[in-house]
Amino acid sequence: MTCREAQRLVTPYINKEISDDDLAEFLKHIDSCEECREELEIYFMVDVGIRQLDEGTGTYNIKGALEAALEISRQHVRLLHMIQTARYAVNTLCFWAVAVLLFMQARMWIQGGI
Ligand SMILES: [Zn+2]
Repeated sequence: MTCREAQRLVTPYINKEISDDDLAEFLKHIDSCEECREELEIYFMVDVGIRQLDEGTGTYNIKGALEAALEISRQHVRLLHMIQTARYAVNTLCFWAVAVLLFMQARMWIQGGI
C-alpha cells in the first residue's frame, strides 16, 4: 500500500467505514510508516477533540486512545485471518473428501464394468 492510499483511508478508518481488506493493509502500513501514522494521529486528535467538545469530557489520553483503537483493529484483522484460515482448511478438507469419494465411486464403476 502506498502512502497516498493509506492517507486516503485515514478518514474511513476513523469513521469505521473501512473495508476488512483495506483495514489489514492499512494497519500494516501505519505500523511501518511514520508519516502516515502521524497523519492518522492528527485526524484522530481532531475527531476525538470534536467529540470531546460535544461530550464536555475533560483531559483525554489521545495517543493511548489511538493505540487502543489500533489494537482493537489489529485483533479484528487477526480474527478475520483466523476465520479465513479455518474456512480454507474446511474447504480443503471438503475438496479432498469429495475427491476421495469420486475416486472410490469411479473405481467401483470400473470394477463393476469388467
Ligand atoms: Zn505512508
